[in-house]
Amino acid sequence: MTASVMMSELSWDEYQRRIKEEDAILLLPVGAVEQHGYHLPLGTDWMVATYMARRAAENVGGIVAAPIAYGYRSQIRTGGGPYRGGTTNLDGMTLINLVKDVLKELVRHGARKLAVIDGHFENRFYLDEACFLAVRELEYAGITDAKILKMLYAERIKPETIKAVYAKAPFPGLELEHGGILETAMMLYCHPEHVDMSKIPDEELPKFPPYDLFPGNNDWVSPSGCLSSGKVATVEIGKLLVEEFVSVVSASLKKEFR
Ligand SMILES: [Zn+2]
Repeated sequence: MTASVMMSELSWDEYQRRIKEEDAILLLPVGAVEQHGYHLPLGTDWMVATYMARRAAENVGGIVAAPIAYGYRSQIRTGGGPYRGGTTNLDGMTLINLVKDVLKELVRHGARKLAVIDGHFENRFYLDEACFLAVRELEYAGITDAKILKMLYAERIKPETIKAVYAKAPFPGLELEHGGILETAMMLYCHPEHVDMSKIPDEELPKFPPYDLFPGNNDWVSPSGCLSSGKVATVEIGKLLVEEFVSVVSASLKKEFR
């Protein structure tokens, strides 16, 4: 058996040994199952989050816990909403409890250094709450030495990277980067076999009002479900972004845990 950093590929005793003897950092990727236009797969968010977690785990001697594929509901103005096949939403309370339970289990296995790697913008406050409640419940149970780092891997992008990525198309803002250049380029680099660039349509991109409606209005979103166009994405742009994110995640883990 080759040395894997993926919990799902480890035997229980090897997993246990790495936590006990190596004090391994446990990384939990959380994504979404959500439409990403005609050209990207439904699993884009959890697949990229898992890729980031795996690369960072290789850099810091960590273990990637089995990922949480599903995430908080797709919002019209940031993810195109739930009106296309496959988008599978969790209620906020479900996501909070799911993540909290998994984190507490990882601590029960002996892990004290934990990281939640978010690949879906809409998850962020629910993951904050899950981490907060997990730590509080652990403290009530007398476990005070567990620490959780939580980050959206794309939290910060260097200005010079933004300039390079958007050399051929204007930066639409991170909230409109759904199925756009960023995600298309990252998938071209991480999982090229799941991208079909020929399926990106020419379509008018949405102009959202400064409010939300419940129920949401699907007419606000373009037919493909993308909020900006990934047409000019390339594997080189993907490499630039992914390698920057991998090094930011790795450096953050080293800073807090090593
Ligand atoms: Zn996405």
